[in-house]
Amino acid sequence: MSGTETDITVRQLIGGMVDSTSGETIPVVDPATGDRVGVVPKGSTDDVDRAVALAVEAFPIWSGCSAHERAAVLHRLADLIDSHGDELARLESIDQGKPFSLARDLEIPRAAANLRFFADAVRQTQSEFFDLGTQGLNYTLRRPRGVAACISPWNLPLYLMTWKFAPALATGNTVVAKPSEVTPLTAHHVAELAVEAGLPPGVLNIVHGVGDIVGRRLVEHPKTPTITFTGGTGTGAAIASVAAPMFKRTSLELGGKNAIVVCEDADLEAAMPVIVRACFQNSGQICTCGSRILVHRERLKGFMSRFLESVAALKVGDPLDPETDLGPLVSESHRATVESAIARAVSEGGTLAHGGGRPGALPDRVQGGFFLEPTVLMGLDQGSDTNQHEIFGPVVTVQGFDHHGEAVARANATRYGLACSLWTRDLERAHRMAARIDAGMIWVNSWMLRDLRTPFGGMKDSGVGREGGEDALRFFTEPRSVTIAHRG
Ligand code: NDP
Repeated sequence: MSGTETDITVRQLIGGMVDSTSGETIPVVDPATGDRVGVVPKGSTDDVDRAVALAVEAFPIWSGCSAHERAAVLHRLADLIDSHGDELARLESIDQGKPFSLARDLEIPRAAANLRFFADAVRQTQSEFFDLGTQGLNYTLRRPRGVAACISPWNLPLYLMTWKFAPALATGNTVVAKPSEVTPLTAHHVAELAVEAGLPPGVLNIVHGVGDIVGRRLVEHPKTPTITFTGGTGTGAAIASVAAPMFKRTSLELGGKNAIVVCEDADLEAAMPVIVRACFQNSGQICTCGSRILVHRERLKGFMSRFLESVAALKVGDPLDPETDLGPLVSESHRATVESAIARAVSEGGTLAHGGGRPGALPDRVQGGFFLEPTVLMGLDQGSDTNQHEIFGPVVTVQGFDHHGEAVARANATRYGLACSLWTRDLERAHRMAARIDAGMIWVNSWMLRDLRTPFGGMKDSGVGREGGEDALRFFTEPRSVTIAHRG
């Protein structure tokens, strides 16, 4: 990366670190200050075609390496991410607005963990074998599929990019990745580290630029049979419509409108800090964040007084300040979208129990940032637009419920089905409700308790397919069932 933190020039990784053939750039803005901090190349379809051609060329070499050789390189990259952890966390914070401490303590270490996990997984994977008795035997060969297109969003930039390219590379595929042009800085730095780690040229390519050009071309390209995408539901539908007739394999991790269900026996003392985090971590810009809290009416009053007290204690401010809980939203335009969602909520009868506007007193350095208060709304029923549409910001609604069947029905009453956080001390009830909630991930008495072996993803309009663990290893490989007959 060249330049200082106020003049960063991002490059693409296409065989080596290069600019775009378009010669055009897009400004990179620090959302905490509103200042331009650098530029990212506006990648062209030519850039994509070159990257795919290199990835096709590198595929026989990389897929021909043993799992141990590939794992060794991924481990080296993980070590480099660790040793550059502070630098990467600072870039992630400047780029996305998240608190530096969140990036340093959670997201960057998790990016390294993604690489280590899949590197170790492929060293230990076994193949299936079926004994056909006197007739013969059968085994399954799993081979990498070729060039994987990895398209990721701006909310957890490095974490989600590595979540995709780590299993793709570990299983022997080559990759063309497209990070969001809104948050390109850590992708650039990791590209440099990948070269240092010894990834052969062409194995991992990173093309920056806008979705409509770079993302679209990657999806349309005839030589990208595997597409893993995390982003909005509308974009996922556009990708599916191109990929399906080309018989590409797709994994689509999309939006959510996640419920937090608080039963009458919930341990509110233990739940409260977790629920507050589940609503407002990364300013609510995490796909698994809760945006609809459903509370048993017996506990609603007590819940609200504790919840509002905890929300009022959250510190909105400079993401580089270690005391900060909420940084700015990712961009001025995203803040405007969230503000209009709050205005819509009020116009459809919602009452603001907390927040709803821009914070008053901010330190001088971040006066120009795209901040918004954590916002709590009441008085909106499940059918309201606010409770149906993803907002992807620091905005939650609270509703009461009278019985558990009603809570499940409301939790399920959206087009989405990504995640749910369920709070009860009754284990039997927890099992019963978890089995009826339409969500890909249900956390009981917790939120985002992650283990990389578990399936990650959603149902309904929250996506198709699962990532993580065995699901990811299968997604990036093609099974060949080989049957050998015994003779005589
Ligand atoms: P978008 O869908 O707008 O973009 C995601 C990525 O796709 C970006 O890199 C984008 O590029 C690219 N893209 C845009 N259009 C196309 C296209 N036609 N073809 C191919 N690629 C394209 O999502 P956001 O970046 O706004 O991310 C927020 C969304 O992501 C939310 O809905 C959130 O719920 C979801 N999300 C889901 C997660 C999950 O695991 N289920 C996890 C995290 C987020 P560009 O930036 O240029 O538009």
